[in-house]
Amino acid sequence: MTKWFDTNYHYLVPEFKENQEFKLYALKAVREFEEAKAMGIHTRPVLLGPVSYLLSGRMVDGAASVLTLLPLLLPVYEAILDKLAEAGADWIQMDEPCLVLDRAEDVAAAVHKTYKQLSSVDSRWKIQLTTYFGGITNYLNDIVNCPIDGLHVDLVRAPEQLDQVLEIIRPDQQLSLGVINGRNIWRSDLGIFIPMIEKAITKLGENNVIISSSCSLLHVPFGLEEETELDEEIKSWLCFAKEKMDEIVLLGKVGTQGKSVIADELTKRQAAVQFRRKSEKVNQLRIKERGRKVTARMLARNAPFNERKKMQQEKFRLPLLPTTTIGSFPQTQSVRLKRRDLKSGKLNQEAYQQFLKEETRKCIAFQEEIGLDVLVHGEFERTDMVEYFGEHLDGFVFTKNGWVQSYGSRCVKPPIIYGDVERKEPMTVAWSSFAQSLTKKPMKGMLTGPVTILQWSFVRDDQPRKDTCQQIALAIRDEVADLERAGIHVIQIDEPALREGLPLKKTEWPAYLKWGVDCFRLASAGVKNETQIHTHMCYGDFEDILDAIAAMDADVISIEASRSDMVLLTAFGEFKYPNDIGPGVYDIHSPLVPEKEAIINRMKKAMAVMAVEQLWINPDCGVKTRNWPEVNDALHNMVAAAKELRGQIKISG
Ligand code: GLN
Ligand code: ZN
Repeated sequence: MTKWFDTNYHYLVPEFKENQEFKLYALKAVREFEEAKAMGIHTRPVLLGPVSYLLSGRMVDGAASVLTLLPLLLPVYEAILDKLAEAGADWIQMDEPCLVLDRAEDVAAAVHKTYKQLSSVDSRWKIQLTTYFGGITNYLNDIVNCPIDGLHVDLVRAPEQLDQVLEIIRPDQQLSLGVINGRNIWRSDLGIFIPMIEKAITKLGENNVIISSSCSLLHVPFGLEEETELDEEIKSWLCFAKEKMDEIVLLGKVGTQGKSVIADELTKRQAAVQFRRKSEKVNQLRIKERGRKVTARMLARNAPFNERKKMQQEKFRLPLLPTTTIGSFPQTQSVRLKRRDLKSGKLNQEAYQQFLKEETRKCIAFQEEIGLDVLVHGEFERTDMVEYFGEHLDGFVFTKNGWVQSYGSRCVKPPIIYGDVERKEPMTVAWSSFAQSLTKKPMKGMLTGPVTILQWSFVRDDQPRKDTCQQIALAIRDEVADLERAGIHVIQIDEPALREGLPLKKTEWPAYLKWGVDCFRLASAGVKNETQIHTHMCYGDFEDILDAIAAMDADVISIEASRSDMVLLTAFGEFKYPNDIGPGVYDIHSPLVPEKEAIINRMKKAMAVMAVEQLWINPDCGVKTRNWPEVNDALHNMVAAAKELRGQIKISG
């Protein structure tokens, strides 16, 4: 499973083999077209284009490019287009978001071949080639030269591409202007789109210009009407899918009736946007001032890693290959039921807190019993690793029903960051201190990192994302300082979303990584040398951002590695990653309990490429979604594997 471009939507990566056979198997698109038609609605069916489809997958054997399969795949697309046309479809949308990535010659050739084959003057359907999540100027010539009938461009992420597109598009081609942001939840200042729409109409005529959202509305919540508990002012700034459609319809009137009919409405909307930008709810001078005062000194630990490591060894006296977990322990049915009872009023706050304490106590006793070296409190008080922090921070609001599909029927409810962010009060200190009071072993304080909090929220659009991220980083820095003061001297700051936040175009990577890493450093570097900072990452390939990971300068990083069977570690080894690292030794997404031998083998692979003194042993990620018997067996085996390896190392000594 992986994420769809830079969204939080997941899909199963198709796995192809050489000479892969493709067959038309599912007719969902046809059935849905027919279902709508029966209701009197003529729709434009949407298919993922063949080139993006192939590029979303991978070859399991051999080194051939997935694009070599194109000739085998195209007949299947022809067949489905045929069926759609038979059912009465005329326009068919083919999504090719791969065209917003960096240019590759084989992709350009594949696109050309595909659309030449699928679309011809006498074909029974019309193709709208749809692109989103960025600009397509890298491929513009290839695209317009194909016999496609229409093109959709994202003018939210890449408004500057419009001029080039208009220059090159043929007058008989239809252009769909993606002007309403499908990736965010703010009302638009609709007026700024009028010149764009007018320009397009001048070139193509009103019948050949379509007004649309920048991308699918899958990435925003459904509608605002259920949000009865939101602050009225903040609610008036928001725009979910249903409200975005109103915006689209309104802008559509420019073409059909001229802009004067919506002039009043435009003025009103512009005023609302201006009002939000100036609102005191949004802007706090004190917070902005603090951001301006951040210095380079605040981003660096006092001593370099090798010196810190000695001091930390002295302090914690951990064995070789220390064992730990990533933070969460099973969020069982009973934990979720208690939370529900609290919400419905069946359980009072005090009883709920008592219950959480009991769970934490049991979790710590369990970790002591199986012999882990660095313990965690279990995160039972957290519904979600971002929501929990957002609830303790100024500048965040939460919806009741702002769900966004993340995979299949699974959804997430991202917080909304509407204003300057500041910590209201300590967020985790009470839980971590309570947990530490129950054990003599080091208790790891657990925090979510600034980039991850940013990445998994809907973020305000009136200041650069990096400024918002810096404010979150300062809030986390305050929390880190309070934890340290309270005697929590191992602190983990999770950044699982650092990788997925990477811009789609490589040229934009360095700037993003610079501020992302700086924010992590700002959050973490205020501690004493003896305090051990951990970070954690998962979901993705990290080979291409090792510089950035090293620049974070966490004392220890735990990282998902088991699914790639430790090959990731080779990259860390070759890079000569300087700090300590805990490669995940088993996949927590699977109910399978790893055998001790399998863990030993994995660690031996790690030891072949990294110094044993650098290595920790831990699972791939938190075990929130697993049940206790699985966790019990898996961690037992993990600790046993660590002990056996330590014994072997002593003997060979
Ligand atoms: N500390 C978190 C947990 O264990 C990390 C989750 C994540 O990386 N996604 O649940
Ligand atoms: Zn993780």
